[in-house]
Amino acid sequence: MNHQFLNFIFSHGDLVQMILFVSLFFISWTIENIYGVFFNYRKWKHAFINAPFIITNLPGQLLLGVAFVGVIRWTSIHHFGLLYSFHIEKNHVLLFLTTFILLDFGEYIYHVFMHKTKTLWRFHLVHHSDKIVDISTTLREHPAENLIRLSFTLLWIFFTGAIFWAILLRQIIQVFTTMFAHINYRLPEKMDIIIGCIFITPNLHQVHHHYQMPYTNCNYGDVFSFWDRLLEHSKSYPARI
Ligand SMILES: [Zn+2]
Ligand SMILES: [Zn+2]
Repeated sequence: MNHQFLNFIFSHGDLVQMILFVSLFFISWTIENIYGVFFNYRKWKHAFINAPFIITNLPGQLLLGVAFVGVIRWTSIHHFGLLYSFHIEKNHVLLFLTTFILLDFGEYIYHVFMHKTKTLWRFHLVHHSDKIVDISTTLREHPAENLIRLSFTLLWIFFTGAIFWAILLRQIIQVFTTMFAHINYRLPEKMDIIIGCIFITPNLHQVHHHYQMPYTNCNYGDVFSFWDRLLEHSKSYPARI
């Protein structure tokens, strides 16, 4: 990849994520129209119900965006955080992979907390209350949960000492994986088994959106699915439904 392209990505991180989000949204929308599992609902109406969450979550994003810059700058100046104790700063590939895994584990812990704590579940329930899970469900997050999630991520970045470019690169990948998990489409069984060994698939995340226990409290993974297997939270879709 040439340097100018990388420089553009790192200096316009928010813009890159937005362009990627909009492009993937429309690609996913088209895939859902052709290969979707659920058809018996009003897709546009459903999307218009979820769309206002973009606006209600904007103040939190802007407010904590400033805090993110401050924390990332402070940890990199002071070489503070778990990642610095590994002494892998010069090996960019290893640093990125380690950062990615650590941040993903942080998202995992956060997600389990949102389910297991009564007060937090009230906010997270908004995401789960979508009766049909499709690409617009990715937008559906209570503003308070948005603030809690960003604050937790900020704290996690502080303790891990994750550096800016690795966080940004992960966020760009995360735009893709979050949308992939929610798309109204199912992978063929064999492909789901292979990809699902490492990554969260739409098939796996659909189980997480099931309205009944114990399915709601399983498959918490954000990008990687192996945390669920390691911590015995992994489940396949109930055969009956
Ligand atoms: Zn959940
Ligand atoms: Zn979800």
